[in-house]
Amino acid sequence: MNNIKTLYTNLRAHVESHYPLLYLVTFEEQQADQLITELAHEDQRKIYEWNLARGIVNFTHKQPLADYCDLASALENWLNDELTNHFLIIKDAHLALHDNPLAVVRLKALAHKLLHDNETIVTVILCSSQACIPPELEKLITLFDLPLPDEDRIHTIIQRFVEMLGDSIDKKTLNDLTLAFRGLGEHEINQLLYRSYQRDGQISSQDVELVLNEKEQIIKKSGILDMVSSVEQFDDISGLKSLKKWLTQKSYILHNLNEAIEFGVEAPKGVMIVGMPGCGKSLTAKATAALFKLPLLRLDVGSLMGKYVGESESNMRRALKLAEAVSPCVLWVDELEKAFVGIGSGGDGSEVATRLFGYFLSWMQDKTGAVFVLATANDISALPPELLRKGRFDEIFYVNFPNLNEREGIFSIHLNKRNKYSPSIDIKKLAEKTDGFSGADIEAVVKESIEVAFINNRATLTTESLMNVINNTHPLKVVMKDKVKDKVKEYEDKFNSLKIKVAF
Ligand code: ATP
Repeated sequence: MNNIKTLYTNLRAHVESHYPLLYLVTFEEQQADQLITELAHEDQRKIYEWNLARGIVNFTHKQPLADYCDLASALENWLNDELTNHFLIIKDAHLALHDNPLAVVRLKALAHKLLHDNETIVTVILCSSQACIPPELEKLITLFDLPLPDEDRIHTIIQRFVEMLGDSIDKKTLNDLTLAFRGLGEHEINQLLYRSYQRDGQISSQDVELVLNEKEQIIKKSGILDMVSSVEQFDDISGLKSLKKWLTQKSYILHNLNEAIEFGVEAPKGVMIVGMPGCGKSLTAKATAALFKLPLLRLDVGSLMGKYVGESESNMRRALKLAEAVSPCVLWVDELEKAFVGIGSGGDGSEVATRLFGYFLSWMQDKTGAVFVLATANDISALPPELLRKGRFDEIFYVNFPNLNEREGIFSIHLNKRNKYSPSIDIKKLAEKTDGFSGADIEAVVKESIEVAFINNRATLTTESLMNVINNTHPLKVVMKDKVKDKVKEYEDKFNSLKIKVAF
């Protein structure tokens, strides 16, 4: 069954079970109208619509049925009218309910009336691009997401458009465009097809570029995802051998995905990298995108948190949908633990965190799009154990402070990067002196030494000048000795019990 049919069946079941308030999250009003029309047709119900622009309107042609009234007044009318066998549609719901206590309490009163009066066969459907539900209504509302068109549907949209032009399209162009359009809504796809046609009077493979540019725009506008452009390569990482080997294998699978799946290999889901700050987690995320030759999208979990009920979940949904829109891609979920703080604590925010977590897990479970998730986290103790269980991510790796060999590698990489590597510098001595330094600490030592050399009449960098800076550096492991020790112990216990792989 395709996504939209599943949604229809689900909505139908809720309507038949007399759920009073259904909330449909979508940017595609036309498609939402189509669904509602089908639902109403089956029961022969009448439909009234209220929208923010024109008040109560005719559902089909959107002409006002009376003078403009605000949502609270429309609800007052609906509360007093003896309606039955109706759908009441509220468009722009998140805008109309925001800071509107009168509308909220009237909607609540209407919901209670519908729940307790078996004679009144009425369902209220709220439609909006965002799910922001006032807490007073939370228990009365059931949330639905209008799914994005699947590949079959995109095929049909493109083909219909081309036929409308009296033209035809070859199979390869159709497939290329379908892939590029994945993750966009019907309205957006149609708009882009129009723009492509206006550009050169045809629909061709060249339009893929236009679609990809548009997707980048959508991401920038969203404010919840960044497109990270970076120059980091795998060779810029010292150590982390087992992690690099694992990622290289996944890269091979991703580049031969169809063949791999036919052979029985499962499509890679993603990896979680946990561990000490400054030890290469972010660096690995960037280098992985380069290795996979895919765009890197960064999701800052902290920015998802909204202050209204449903806002954080709505942001999470939007972010994951956007990532699907840009797929194939690497989705870097930075500081994953921030999203799930307080799960199960029963305190403020615990419910939101639990719901966010549930949504993220089921998305990870079901995702079919080519989004490779790379999650990074510093604080493993803040993560719910379910997330660490095998099967969520393909693998979990732990990064610790670099050992002697790795520190040598990190010094070479950062000296080389700045054209300051010289065989006269005793890298081994530097590495021996920097036990407990993270990769970030070592990079900072190299940078500072170069700066000092420049200020001292552009002096040549020597082992001694580097050692001077090292002697004056207090790495995190030393500054926060006890805390770091506890953390390392906690990690070690946890990764032993969960069989988490060590990246070095
Ligand atoms: P945080 O948890 O604080 O975000 P992180 O683990 O993501 O830290 P990075 O941002 O990847 O750490 O590391 C900081 C810098 O340290 C990197 O940009 C890189 O220059 C250097 N670095 C860390 N680890 C390594 C490594 N193994 N090889 C080379 N450079 C490294």
